[in-house]
Amino acid sequence: MALDLTKYIASVPDYPEKGVIFRDISPLMADGAAYREATDKLVDYAKDKGAEMVVGPEARGFIVGCPIAYELGIGFAPARKQGKLPRETVKATYDLEYGTSALYLHKDAIKPGQKVLVTDDLLATGGTISATIKLVEELGGIVVGTAFIIELKDLHGREKISDYDIFSLMEY
Ligand code: 5GP
Repeated sequence: MALDLTKYIASVPDYPEKGVIFRDISPLMADGAAYREATDKLVDYAKDKGAEMVVGPEARGFIVGCPIAYELGIGFAPARKQGKLPRETVKATYDLEYGTSALYLHKDAIKPGQKVLVTDDLLATGGTISATIKLVEELGGIVVGTAFIIELKDLHGREKISDYDIFSLMEY
């Protein structure tokens, strides 16, 4: 029987600051059956979209993206913060509440024309995933879909990536 995956998300009020409810996926990851079921659903989506490669941003994008890539027998490329990738990179900046941040991909992470699934644990304002998409496209990859465990509707990330297909397992 299908699990109610929302039961494995811990909602933490006032984290990381007052007024914010943090949606913590660690109980889901800690439960083998729930982690597998969430992964299986994302795998079905990725397969449906014909993904040939998975890209996820540091750090929870790895937790979500790597098992998808493993199951499909395709590759995974990490989008990382400054100073983490040892070889030549491309860079994309994005806005934070205060200031900006940047993500990087190795220049040879994606082959031109490759179909890429971009994934992360959660879609909020869409800044992180937009930067990840930009990196993939700069390298000539085709983003065939975006996948998340959680989507926070009120933050309108969906509008920022409205040109792309979006799949999420649950919404708040
Ligand atoms: P965005 O860039 O869409 O505003 O924020 C999404 C990014 O911030 C994701 O990489 C995600 O891991 C992290 N994030 C923001 N809020 C939350 C939250 O409530 N729970 C979790 N698990 N991650 C969050």
